[in-house]
Amino acid sequence: MFGRAPKKSDNTKYYEILGVSKSASQDDLKKAYRKAAIKNHPDKGGDPEKFKELAQAYEVLSDPDKREIYDQYGEDALKEGMGGGGGGHDPFDIFQSFFGGNPFGGAGSSRGRRQRRGEDVVHPLKVSLEDLYNGTSKKLSLSRNAICSKCKGKGSKSGASIKCSGCQGSGIKVSIRHLGPSMIQQMQHACNECKGTGETINDKDRCQQCKGEKVVQEKKVLEVIVEKGMQNGQKITFPGEADEAPDTVTGDIVFVLQQKEHPKFKRKGDDLFVEHTLYLTEALCGFQFILTHLDGRQLLIKSEPGEVIKPDQYKGINDEGMPMYQRSFMKGKLYIHFAVEFPDSLSPEQCKTLEAVLPPRSSVQLTDMELDECEETTLHDVNIEEEMRRKQAQAQEAYDEDEDMPGGGAQRVQCAQQ
Ligand SMILES: [Zn+2]
Ligand SMILES: [Zn+2]
Repeated sequence: MFGRAPKKSDNTKYYEILGVSKSASQDDLKKAYRKAAIKNHPDKGGDPEKFKELAQAYEVLSDPDKREIYDQYGEDALKEGMGGGGGGHDPFDIFQSFFGGNPFGGAGSSRGRRQRRGEDVVHPLKVSLEDLYNGTSKKLSLSRNAICSKCKGKGSKSGASIKCSGCQGSGIKVSIRHLGPSMIQQMQHACNECKGTGETINDKDRCQQCKGEKVVQEKKVLEVIVEKGMQNGQKITFPGEADEAPDTVTGDIVFVLQQKEHPKFKRKGDDLFVEHTLYLTEALCGFQFILTHLDGRQLLIKSEPGEVIKPDQYKGINDEGMPMYQRSFMKGKLYIHFAVEFPDSLSPEQCKTLEAVLPPRSSVQLTDMELDECEETTLHDVNIEEEMRRKQAQAQEAYDEDEDMPGGGAQRVQCAQQ
């Protein structure tokens, strides 16, 4: 019953809307959204639908968790995800968070329409790499809405409900917003007095158990079976276990596995990777060490006699990688990536001893004449990563200043808010 096959879905649309590549950084996204939002802003005569699309795309891609789910499962998975009462933002809220101050006043919501099928609820479920290697089960206690057993979801004695006065029984209210001097936008949203049902109940007729809410909170324990070899991002589905509501097919509860970083092992597909540092003597003359595997077994890892390990070299061990999902008797490879720690300096005596056994220095001897024609240099110690990072930050700063020059995007928005 578990592990419904993930359906193939479109997960490029949001990137296309914002006009960025799938590998775009948060910074790229922010810039692309800012440019497009200014261009398509309804107040500047832009298309409100396009503006909404942009905001939705940005809302998802700017949130690393949502972006990950979107990249793997597409838009549908997120709709499920937003169902659990979590806040989907109004596009204007996002715009506001960008520029501060809302030029439009309070924004209504178009959510809350009556739906035939209840929304699915998506929960992330954190698991360790050990859990995915060995398999495990986790008992989770969740609370959900369940149809009231006393009134069977009617909220009252049968026939006691009356037409809602707030919406004349339609369940929908319409509000009008002024977007500009000659532009208005009509927004439909669910009636707040009857929650979109079109009916209300007199106080005296209300069901005692659910206070007329038709549903009651219920605690439920679900046992999630994490099978050997499951992947980060894999879904485990409990059909029909989400919130119950009258006249609605109950949605699913979906757990999305999120693997925690492991301090020692990295996983790529069915393979595992381990970093190991050898002393120079071990790299040259042989080594052995014990590696504790994800199931607690102790592996003895050793070099062949006479073998030399070079810095950045990889070695592999068959069948010590991850078990394959639903074929757990088969396993991937375990790769060991070696680093070699060299001594910081050697004394002249040590050099002499080493030269006696190691291959000779460069065979090309420089002549005095060649040396006379050279300029002497001094090698300094550097932290190359640090220096490159600093230079890149300086270049970025110069670029940003350029973009915020008068006539650039930020300037125009300030005008729009006045
Ligand atoms: Zn009831
Ligand atoms: Zn109403």
